[in-house]
Amino acid sequence: MSMYSKNDFKGVKVQDSPSMIIIHNSGSDKDTALSIVHYHRSKWSGVGYHWLIEKGRIIAGRPTLFVGAHSSGENNGSIGFCVVGNYMEKLPDEETLAALVRIISIECFANNIPVEKIIGHREVGNTDCPGDKLFEFIPEIRKRVKSKLKERNNDTKERIRKPRTKTKKGKESK
Ligand SMILES: [Zn+2]
Repeated sequence: MSMYSKNDFKGVKVQDSPSMIIIHNSGSDKDTALSIVHYHRSKWSGVGYHWLIEKGRIIAGRPTLFVGAHSSGENNGSIGFCVVGNYMEKLPDEETLAALVRIISIECFANNIPVEKIIGHREVGNTDCPGDKLFEFIPEIRKRVKSKLKERNNDTKERIRKPRTKTKKGKESK
């Protein structure tokens, strides 16, 4: 089952390099990623969020190359994440939070976005999105992303270092 239709994103502009991560909730526990995609498609040029997170699953929405439709006035140069459900009175489950942190980390890494630029929709719009509990959790999301980025940087350094060590050893044994 594809989430996309061939008419999705027609006429949507390519966006400036993303420099901000904006977190949303969909607002109702009755929502599903698919119902959101269908609803957005019926009103606009395909789903407005770049990523949707539903019950621990990461679902690709609008390609990040394109300007999203999730935060009026801040769409160009940002990446929109929607956690499916309502998080006014409860947090997403741990699996969903872990998935959210994982995909945010990848986008921060790929686009060189600092963790301070991970924000809630209500910080740039007149809305109570992403719900009180999820909004209050954003500092913890920043912390978790920061530690994932650190691991990723160490991995990269490790991979770069290894061949050099080998060459050095080879030389020494001559
Ligand atoms: Zn929102």
